[in-house]
Amino acid sequence: MRDALNYIDGRQVPARDWLENFEPATGQVYGRVANSGPDDVARAVAAAQRAFPAWSATSAAARSTVLRAIARLIERDLDKLARAESIDSGKPLAAALAIDIPRAAQNFAFFADAITQFASEAHPADGALNYTLRQPLGVVACISPWNLPLYLLTWKIAPALAAGNCVVAKPSEVTPMTAHLLGALCTEAGLPPGVLNLVQGTGPGAGAPLCVHPAVQAISFTGSTRVGALIAAGAARTFTKVSLEMGGKNPTLIFADADLDEAIPQALRAAFSNQGQICLCGSRILIERSIYPRVRDALVAGARALRLGDPLEAGTDQGSLVSSAHFDKVMSCITIARQEGGEILTGGQRKVLAGRCAGGWFVEPTLIEGLGPETRTNQEEIFGPVATLQSFSSDEEALTLANATRYGLAASIWTRSLSRTHRLAASLHSGIVWVNCWMLRDLRTPFGGVKDSGVGREGGWDALRFFTETKNICVKY
Ligand code: NAD
Repeated sequence: MRDALNYIDGRQVPARDWLENFEPATGQVYGRVANSGPDDVARAVAAAQRAFPAWSATSAAARSTVLRAIARLIERDLDKLARAESIDSGKPLAAALAIDIPRAAQNFAFFADAITQFASEAHPADGALNYTLRQPLGVVACISPWNLPLYLLTWKIAPALAAGNCVVAKPSEVTPMTAHLLGALCTEAGLPPGVLNLVQGTGPGAGAPLCVHPAVQAISFTGSTRVGALIAAGAARTFTKVSLEMGGKNPTLIFADADLDEAIPQALRAAFSNQGQICLCGSRILIERSIYPRVRDALVAGARALRLGDPLEAGTDQGSLVSSAHFDKVMSCITIARQEGGEILTGGQRKVLAGRCAGGWFVEPTLIEGLGPETRTNQEEIFGPVATLQSFSSDEEALTLANATRYGLAASIWTRSLSRTHRLAASLHSGIVWVNCWMLRDLRTPFGGVKDSGVGREGGWDALRFFTETKNICVKY
């Protein structure tokens, strides 16, 4: 049995009791997770409060050095961390090796650099000078989901620490293991005790008391829109600053003039990467009518060619879903799609593998057509390997379909027309628009959604601004 412990005041400690930790590819319990409660949260916040005066007074260069050391240790432990992430989440080991863990290291390296370049404004006027300070907030909470566990946890922790805050983070109880391993790396890198604390456990048990703790000055949350609303409601009572990165129902728009040799494989990648469990996944594929049959057939062939298998085996494209509960949710969404009159073009079933993974929670990559924009299938986030196809015959219709949900995180447009690109990009209700690409990330750019997908932006200066308080000083001379 492997235990995922809390990391409080520089030490790895258990909580009062435990949750079971499953390997989703086998459906078997393989470890335990500290099941923290308000007392553990209080200890972690107290440790962060004690550490804050010294850490916030450390120079940006010194903080940068420690963050860079953490990045190097993550790179050193790439194999170990990637294997832990794959076992914990069901994602292919190859994806954890190539994407999740390298990106976690980049998050620390990026903000190690960024903080040394972070500047603020001055407004000289006749007889007076205004200058602006951006000071660390104090103790901040970082709450992350299970789909990209170490990648998203570090995306929050790194800017918060770089800006001089002390952090209490709550990783997802579904995928706690790489956070557990990160704690030991932070100690090895020389991060002083209490600067980062990791409290494992459930949302209601550990996340909720953390969010309402009176010493917490800001909450950076990534997860579902439902939980984001709960956190925002609680934060409103104490005027706690929040950044919310939430759900998506993202459109992929494929026009007849697109480079289809590029657009079709990328639309498949957008639909099925990480088994469709990425907030940015393109789960509504909108296709210009004149090319619809050709694109549909190619997408179906591409989905059928994806290799579902043991996540630890080389050559596996698709692993398992993250948990039994999530498997049930995705399968119930497929049932709803059938009830709504959708035609399952491919997939739609549980995949039962032989051998070690016989009990795993695998779902075939699924494509559905014949459903209108108002259906639940095209309105609700499924967050699994399920995408729908719809057709359009004009730019206006494409735009109307793309914008016809309560979400607005990301969109991807495939066209060779420059004027269409700019017209649509400006009119899409979306925080992020990719043109002739998907999930091409530059960590300097603002990241976040509109409508029910988010409040605020992460990434680059936006993250450092979120994790600092702005103070203007006016000096008359
Ligand atoms: P979730 O909302 O269930 O949980 C996210 C985190 O919040 C977990 O750590 C959970 O324990 C915690 N939590 C739950 N209830 C809480 C409460 N009352 N108070 C405080 N914390 C609480 O989300 P999930 O199922 O882990 O992740 C999937 C969701 O995350 C999807 O909706 C997906 O779109 C979204 N997501 C969004 C982004 C983005 O950048 N916009 C990125 C990844 C995932």
